[in-house]
Amino acid sequence: MAENCIFCRIVKEEIPSTKVYESDEFIAFTDINPAAPVHLLVVPKRHIPRLSDATPDDEGLLGRLLLAVGEVVRKNNIDDYRLIINDGPGAGQTVFHLHAHILSGRQLGEKLL
Ligand code: AMP
Ligand code: ZN
Repeated sequence: MAENCIFCRIVKEEIPSTKVYESDEFIAFTDINPAAPVHLLVVPKRHIPRLSDATPDDEGLLGRLLLAVGEVVRKNNIDDYRLIINDGPGAGQTVFHLHAHILSGRQLGEKLL
């Protein structure tokens, strides 16, 4: 846990969130400033500042993060969606605790790749 990390504080329930999923290792909650009709954040409970801080020791956690995304979308009846991880300020990362955005509920038209 990192002091003053907003997502660590959400994990500890010091800050409220609208939780849609929880396991031993992950939580998912609605984004406070949604960019799509459905905008969820899937967050490991362990504090890793950004994806590029992950090490080979985190291989299991990163794999389970994607499986948790699958659980979240199934449990919340989300059909097609886009998954985004911003890694670094230049990519738009504002909260430095690893998280994946699930965006859905509108045509996500712009293809970046
Ligand atoms: P990123 O820009 O990838 O770091 O994403 C951070 C996301 O966290 C943004 O989409 C914010 O709207 C969202 N966010 C920040 N604070 C909260 C909060 N207290 N509860 C829910 N979402 C939050
Ligand atoms: Zn944190």
